[in-house]
Amino acid sequence: MKVLVIEDEKKIASFIRKGLEAQGFVVDVCHHGDDGYLMATTQPFDALVLDIMLPGRDGLSILRNLRERGHPVPVILLTARSELNERLEGLNLGADDYLTKPFFIEELVARLHVVTRRASGASHSILAVGDLTVNLLTREVKRGDFAVELTAREFELLEHLARSPGRVLTRAQICERVWNYDFDPGTNLVEVYIQRLRKKIDAGFDNKLIETIRGVGYRMKPDK
Ligand code: CA
Repeated sequence: MKVLVIEDEKKIASFIRKGLEAQGFVVDVCHHGDDGYLMATTQPFDALVLDIMLPGRDGLSILRNLRERGHPVPVILLTARSELNERLEGLNLGADDYLTKPFFIEELVARLHVVTRRASGASHSILAVGDLTVNLLTREVKRGDFAVELTAREFELLEHLARSPGRVLTRAQICERVWNYDFDPGTNLVEVYIQRLRKKIDAGFDNKLIETIRGVGYRMKPDK
């Protein structure tokens, strides 16, 4: 399990790193809010441990920006005893849990297990975007009350898009993930499959779920 710790107090950050590594976690540490945000948005992590007061972008801004982009990574906030308002705001913004400093490393480990289990539990059964549901076990897809028949590749493409609504996937990323091969800029394979999906998922509905981000790629409409 890979965890990103964004905490500017070096002593606390190193206490967390040592404690989590001793429990078998892979840990990256950032001491600056801007670096932390960049890492969180460009590398995959199973969870974030996020301090509130940080140089650069503060913890709540990082959290807000992640959730606005539809980023689903579980987040545990580290708060000081006096930061009651920040704690509540953090939970409202979509933090999964919080810990008040000082804390025992065992508490953090226990909470990390809970929030990541919750996240993977959700990802193992049904993905939902608006009135679209994608059942990963039965591979049934429904838009509202209508069952949608998809080929295996179409299903895989839809699954990747629906796993993180709001997050843009480039054509290259889609090629690698769905077809397992390097992107050939000369091919319009991705466009063709997106069109097919649109016909099956979006045609006849006012609320179009698959969005083109011009010059970049595609995404599922972020949930509001
Ligand atoms: Ca701090």
